Amino acid sequence: MTTPTVTEPVTTTAQTPTYETLLAAVTDPGGREVLDPATGEVVGRAADRSADDLDAAVAAARAVQRAWAARPDAERVELLLRAAEAVEAAAEPLAELLSREQGKPLNGPNARFEVGACAAWLRATAATELPGGTVLDDGETRAELHYRPVGVVGAIGPWNWPMMITIWQVAPALRMGNTVVVKPSEYTPLSVLALVHVLNGVLPADVLTAVAGGREVGARLSAHPDIDKLVFTGSTATGQAIIRSSADTVKRLTLELGGNDAGIVLPDVDPTAIAEGLFWGAFINTGQTCAALKRLYVHTDVHDEVCAALVEVAKTMPMGRGLDEANVLGPLQNRAQYEIVARLVDAARDAGATILLGGDPDPDAPGHFYPTTLVADVDDTNPLVAQEQFGPALPIVRYDDVEQAVAMANRLDVGLGASVWSSDRDAARTVAARLEAGTVWINSHGGVHPMVPFGGVKKSGYGLEFGVEGLKAVAVPQVVNG
Ligand code: NAD
Repeated sequence: MTTPTVTEPVTTTAQTPTYETLLAAVTDPGGREVLDPATGEVVGRAADRSADDLDAAVAAARAVQRAWAARPDAERVELLLRAAEAVEAAAEPLAELLSREQGKPLNGPNARFEVGACAAWLRATAATELPGGTVLDDGETRAELHYRPVGVVGAIGPWNWPMMITIWQVAPALRMGNTVVVKPSEYTPLSVLALVHVLNGVLPADVLTAVAGGREVGARLSAHPDIDKLVFTGSTATGQAIIRSSADTVKRLTLELGGNDAGIVLPDVDPTAIAEGLFWGAFINTGQTCAALKRLYVHTDVHDEVCAALVEVAKTMPMGRGLDEANVLGPLQNRAQYEIVARLVDAARDAGATILLGGDPDPDAPGHFYPTTLVADVDDTNPLVAQEQFGPALPIVRYDDVEQAVAMANRLDVGLGASVWSSDRDAARTVAARLEAGTVWINSHGGVHPMVPFGGVKKSGYGLEFGVEGLKAVAVPQVVNG
């Protein structure tokens, strides 16, 4: 049997598409309508593939995997670097499509930022070196540890940061010699199809394929006998379904699931100095971020000042249609998420909480806009605190004693991120060590870096992404002994 070869794409230099050519390239005239969450207008039509289509994509990815893995690592590095250039060449149309489909503004830490992060992560993944080699050589035993490709990797993503999360899933897998089949969220298929289209201007055929479709396509991917590893980012409930459906094939899993990140503000802070950091920690991507600050615990000594400073910052942040250059906050991506946020804020109000800002959406306005909302005097057990809101509404809980704050922060069964805010770094680090979360930030919240591992504990999932740990996660270790 001959090993299939990997076909070079026709185009090998970065092209500069327009918005129209990019959209046309990913449009399926018979596909499902995708609506702009800011206006309700049709953005485009995305293919709605079946589970059988997925099988074909997996077979194609399987057919070229060995040839891809057999290439020298330096060639895959070179292709990732060229992929980064291709993303940069298409940055503006990619950002526009992302803004129209997801709703996030072009400016602020939003659409242009997300496309820029895609290029940055591709470059960083190309630059990361995986250690390996001799682990024991004592004259009697010689053992080496190597990281081999897993095979074909499946990647299933959410709708909040669709392009960036796709790159997080895809880049390390490609670097390690795997081929990849991506299943985008049904809410944001065009963004991911467009990104994959741009990458495939550089990558060989069938090494990377996106199959847009519904939950049944994701379910088939997670049970597929020819998928060796699945990288999933999404809700805890779907993660649990994936664990079950992947059991028969003993698939390797990386699960980046939901969170409900706590922030603890110690009494020694300067409220004005931390207010902007707190704001963006909570409201980046209009609160639709896995590791956003979702419940804030503030010491009673500074509670009122922190609330007042947050309100002042929040009032200056314009929300509106993403294509308007002035805006830094946008709509909720879909109506279901809007309803969740509205229900949780109403639950807090009904329980006697104080609405410091917002909480008053205009029922007649087009789009899924929910105003920036700050809620104080809310009990720790209130649903707005205890459940993941995933939107622009931050509950602020007063505490008297740091023991009480740590207990409240650790009370939930999720643990993606957390933060501690203090003028005393050592005091903050002492509290950080006691928090049950995959990442604890000090005096910031939610920042990620391509060289720093990222992952959750508890029901926020398992496995790490980024850096050396991220490469190991899409490889299988092999010991060569002798
Ligand atoms: P979701 O779980 O509803 O959907 C995610 C993806 O899973 C979609 O592509 C969907 O089609 C697919 N899917 C649905 N059912 C499936 C099944 N049975 N088998 C396989 N795939 C299936 O999540 P969402 O609403 O798109 O995203 C929001 C959630 O994601 C939030 O809870 C958020 O905290 C979490 N999230 C986590 C991270 C992280 O890094 N930990 C990042 C972003 C979002």
